[in-house]
Amino acid sequence: MHWRGVIEQYREYMSVTDQTPVITLNEGNTPFIACRNLSKAINNKIRLYLKFEGANPTGSFKDRGMTMAISKAVEAGAEAVICASTGNTSASAAAYGARAGIKVFVLIPEGKIAVGKLAQAMIHKANVIQVEGNFDEALTIVKSIASDYPITIVNSINPYRLEGQKSAAFEVCDQLGGNPDYHFLPVGNAGNITAYWMGYSEYYKKGKISSLPKMMGFQAAGAAPIVYGRVIENPTTIATAIRIGNPASWKMAVNAATESRGEINMVTDEEIIEAYKLVAATEGIFCEAASAASIAGVIKKNKEGLFNEGDTVVCTLTGHGLKDTEMAINFSKRPVTVKADKTEVLKVLGY
Ligand SMILES: *Cc1c(COP(=O)(O)O)cnc(C)c1O
Repeated sequence: MHWRGVIEQYREYMSVTDQTPVITLNEGNTPFIACRNLSKAINNKIRLYLKFEGANPTGSFKDRGMTMAISKAVEAGAEAVICASTGNTSASAAAYGARAGIKVFVLIPEGKIAVGKLAQAMIHKANVIQVEGNFDEALTIVKSIASDYPITIVNSINPYRLEGQKSAAFEVCDQLGGNPDYHFLPVGNAGNITAYWMGYSEYYKKGKISSLPKMMGFQAAGAAPIVYGRVIENPTTIATAIRIGNPASWKMAVNAATESRGEINMVTDEEIIEAYKLVAATEGIFCEAASAASIAGVIKKNKEGLFNEGDTVVCTLTGHGLKDTEMAINFSKRPVTVKADKTEVLKVLGY
């Protein structure tokens, strides 16, 4: 079957009509991977799966929401869209905006986004504005501009973003053949955990799954406003995609965690990097550092004794590791350099 993107695949669950121009890059249908090696390294009594969202067209889950946001903006006659971004939203908005032939304005925190993401926004000809401030400040400006001018905001406060993103929960259930017991994911602006919970809840109401997973959201310890219950003025973490101190979907994320009997918790940068390296080394999956907060969360909760034998645990890996190659190189062993000589090479190989 030819996959035509998340709007066509899950049309009955989306707010689209025959009049909606579907702007798609055939996002979704991402790998759902059973991870025995990782499971062995953490707890071999659980069934661990990864939903690798880095395999979306622009390399992150943001594409699921962007196909809806841009399609609806074009339907409404918008000539321009705007967003604040830690990088992936701008990459996705730029790509879908290019495909739709509309103007894209993006505000990013200066020097605080991975270079791959900046490259994406630039090559797709978005109008990129670096703000001498953080994501939260950029979002405040964007919200104000969108309310004063005929420019559509495509951050996750745009309800169509979450609607598109809930498709990931549908896919997990379709690929697994039911619901997991736990779903772990990183939390930044908190839209994705909200969207997954919407998706699972809709599938449950339709009778497609027999019970609901517990939603387990993980913030970075230096950017954990929900965990501390207060806005963090200067969030800090190596995981730039979740470096957010005042999440837009704060309340909805707390609802998702509470209603599902899950939780919003946090992991340190050290734990994030350890998980980032572990999944790459044991499973051949290269994700973003922020994405690895989900696996770091599983490791943390496992140490606390959360899981029972046979539990099905899904982690969303939100973005692709290639977005930030500098990070990978910084945390890996350096290559050795030798003369162009077989004996020299063999020496290094240990033969
Ligand atoms: C956007 C993003 C997140 C955070 O998602 P929210 O919906 O803002 O909570 C996590 N990881 C990556 C790679 C992202 O791009």
